[in-house]
Amino acid sequence: MRLVVLGGGESGVGTAILGKQKGYDVFVSDFGKIKENYKEVLIKNGIDWEDEKHTESLILNADVVMKSPGIPEKAAIVKKLVEKGIPVISEIEFAAPFTKAITIGITGSNGKTTTTMLTYHLLKSAGLNVGLAGNIGKSFAEQVAEDKYDSYVLELSSFQLDGIINYKPHIAIITNISPDHLDRYDYKYENYIDSKFRITMNQTEEDYLIYDADDEAISEWLKKNKTKAKLIPFSLTQTFEEGAFIKDNTMEVIINQEEFKMETESIALEGKHNFKNAMAATSVAKLMQIRKATIRESLSNFQGVEHRLEKVLKIQNVQYINDSKATNVNATFFALDSMTTPTVWIVGGVDKGNDYNELMALVREKVKAIICLGVDNRKIIDAFGNVVDIMLEVNNMNDAVKMAQRITEKGDTVLLSPACASFDLFENYEDRGRQFKEAVHNL
Ligand code: ADP
Repeated sequence: MRLVVLGGGESGVGTAILGKQKGYDVFVSDFGKIKENYKEVLIKNGIDWEDEKHTESLILNADVVMKSPGIPEKAAIVKKLVEKGIPVISEIEFAAPFTKAITIGITGSNGKTTTTMLTYHLLKSAGLNVGLAGNIGKSFAEQVAEDKYDSYVLELSSFQLDGIINYKPHIAIITNISPDHLDRYDYKYENYIDSKFRITMNQTEEDYLIYDADDEAISEWLKKNKTKAKLIPFSLTQTFEEGAFIKDNTMEVIINQEEFKMETESIALEGKHNFKNAMAATSVAKLMQIRKATIRESLSNFQGVEHRLEKVLKIQNVQYINDSKATNVNATFFALDSMTTPTVWIVGGVDKGNDYNELMALVREKVKAIICLGVDNRKIIDAFGNVVDIMLEVNNMNDAVKMAQRITEKGDTVLLSPACASFDLFENYEDRGRQFKEAVHNL
């Protein structure tokens, strides 16, 4: 059997290792440059590869192709494979049959990483032999090759889900759905929604789907479509006989008639969106029969993930918060929503078709000044120019942070929550967040 792997990054190299171990004739092809450390791994494992080209004669003879999530379906080589009827699958689809471990698959537009890390933290703290993979850390396929874990928590993007055929998580979470990556879905929101729901398409009556019952796109889909999985809803506004909700400032999770309660104040993560993430992760913990005391302790000591509403420093009683990972309006909505003091908001970058009206009420209520940090800030200025008193434009992070400091008074917050992608002025959102933190530390 010939396995061709498109893309020589983390998931590609991991898949190649697993394929080789299982006796496939493996070939890795990357149209870009493969990083030196990955080349070394391929060579060490005796795996054939090429980079900066796709040699069709070595690819179109595949029995199965693993496409890395970064490669669009529109890529010429992928189209040719599909035309020839060669199955093009994702890493998860390829690797899952080689492990008996159960998987918890987490998808959604926002909150995937936070919910994945929190779920992993809950299960690991409980002593389960659990691995972490998907879009995070070490490749799932490579970990399957090493065969170390009994269960995995997987962060799954829609691109990973597009490439599944038979894969099913035992427990699936859809954190929420709002328009994102529409360029990869023919600019059709419904295609993107369908892609997220692929997470449940192979689930059976023994499996679970945990989802945000407040989310319109999710509720609509569930009304019109069927899943065999047992549904576990979570909500900030409704209550359920089975599911998770917030009532009287207490999080309640009821599963199999067993109840877990915890005051939201004791949950280390802050903000309504994080209560949602906590409800989803706790539902998994309950399904996995983790003890209440362990859940309680883990929720009270999980400090969150870098670049997601990350508290950086307090200087002269002004709190600086790094939410660089907020690359869409929905994420920024929850960041602004969780502000409890007058806020200087640093926003901007590459807009993916944002509708800033959704933020209008929050901006009126909480934002005293806006600092636009992008090459083209017109849409932000048009939207909020008449709403806030101070509106500034800068083109680098140092200036943004210095300006912010000048405007603030004791008790204020400076929030970097860009609602946009970063590549006009930064390498990626991590670079943007790091520059922010460095600038704050240098104040
Ligand atoms: P993802 O992996 O889906 O991008 P992250 O956990 O990295 O999600 O968070 C991305 C951004 O979305 C951050 O700005 C974070 O504060 C915000 N966020 C986290 N959870 C949620 C949620 N449940 N709903 C909306 N926004 C969220």
